[in-house]
Amino acid sequence: MKFATAIIIGAGQSGLAMSRHLTARSIDHVVFERGEVANSWLTERWDSLRLLTPNWQTRLPNHAYAGDDPHGFMTMAEVAGFLQRYARLSQAPIMSGTRVIRATQQDQGYEVLTTRGVWRCRKLVIASGACNIASIPSHSAGLPAKITSLTPLQYRNPGLLPDGGAMIVGASASGIQLARELQAAGRRVLLSVGDHVRMPRTYRGRDILWWMDAIGAMNMRYDAIDDIQRARHLPSLQLVGTPDHVTVDLNSLRKASVELVGRLVGLRDGKAQFSGSLANFCALADLKMNRLLASIDDWVTASGLDQHVPAPERFEPTMLEPETKLSLDLVSAGIGTVIWATGFRPDYSWLDVPVLDRKGRIRHDGGIVAAPGMYVMGLPFMRQRKSSFIDGAGDDAADLAAHLSQNLANAA
Ligand SMILES: Cc1cc2nc3c(=O)[nH]c(=O)nc-3n(C[C@H](O)[C@H](O)[C@H](O)COP(=O)(O)OP(=O)(O)OC[C@H]3O[C@@H](n4cnc5c(N)ncnc54)[C@H](O)[C@@H]3O)c2cc1C
Repeated sequence: MKFATAIIIGAGQSGLAMSRHLTARSIDHVVFERGEVANSWLTERWDSLRLLTPNWQTRLPNHAYAGDDPHGFMTMAEVAGFLQRYARLSQAPIMSGTRVIRATQQDQGYEVLTTRGVWRCRKLVIASGACNIASIPSHSAGLPAKITSLTPLQYRNPGLLPDGGAMIVGASASGIQLARELQAAGRRVLLSVGDHVRMPRTYRGRDILWWMDAIGAMNMRYDAIDDIQRARHLPSLQLVGTPDHVTVDLNSLRKASVELVGRLVGLRDGKAQFSGSLANFCALADLKMNRLLASIDDWVTASGLDQHVPAPERFEPTMLEPETKLSLDLVSAGIGTVIWATGFRPDYSWLDVPVLDRKGRIRHDGGIVAAPGMYVMGLPFMRQRKSSFIDGAGDDAADLAAHLSQNLANAA
């Protein structure tokens, strides 16, 4: 049996940022990675995907984008290269090809069973990702056998789908990107839309994420939010990273002939049933977007910048067909594939410590888990709104490494 003071599970940005901070504090540790560095970016993303966060926002402790296109968006190969360079520069002690099979609590810490032996540690950092498993609604079981069912973790490109149209369930970041790609590839596309967060790509001459960063929206702390559980479960931003910085929203998709339908509420005898709430969801998303734009305008005025940036603008409300379908026989409509872009969740099947709530979510306070010496990284709105983004890993790792280090000192 081997020993390290701390064990980090996962070598994505979360695990690497934490490793960097533990090294800076001279805390010996090891990072277990079942694949290789940046495994999720390399193996669980579709071919055309680019980051929706601009290059300048791709920054980690002591490592930031340094190319000549700060406003561009990285491909997956570029993200992986960025993280691999970071791992090399920070000399992270990574054991790749090492899967954690079980972690159990012991007197003074944790025992971690891996595919390459058993380890013990005093501190355990779970950086194994927030998006390991696609969340699929239970009525997916009613899908006719002849229709292919995919998740965004499995989808690669339009050419690999069976013939026919596609129904995409969910209109957040993944859903709108896949709808756009499949429509452009000549497929009939139905997009089932529930709650969503509408965003323009650019506003008053800047990227919307530049504004959100500037007004402090990305740095908002979890303990300053009234209903943090709700905030943690909001859908992802309707944003796409493309070389031409286009806004992809329901209006642009509808104009490109994507058929918008309401939230999928049932699937029986091959028939999909959609809720009639589409117009309400769209009106609410428009309202919330306008609220964000108004807070940006207020910030510009308060900072005395009105003369230096273009005037405020407001975007066309989401336009819908007068009548949207409430049901559809998928087979007779020629739908060959359904893609469940209905969100993701972590996989804690290896974690044999009673820290999960009845919904299987890890109980934590800003990443400090409800078990001695255990930490988690990379969850939505974990310590700040940006916690689940690349840009959020640095701050969270700094805070949690400080807590972990203090904890070790107290026990000494
Ligand atoms: C489709 C998609 C697009 C995204 N786009 C952006 C974006 O544009 N900008 C942005 O900032 N964020 C984006 N994100 C969010 C976030 O940055 C990514 O999810 C990112 O991968 C999270 O990094 P992480 O290190 O927390 O987890 P991961 O990158 O998932 O890393 C976890 C690592 O743990 C390993 N692991 C898991 N279980 C085990 C085990 N049992 N044993 C050993 N190793 C294990 C995995 O192999 C993986 O390498 C996106 C997410 C998704 C799903």
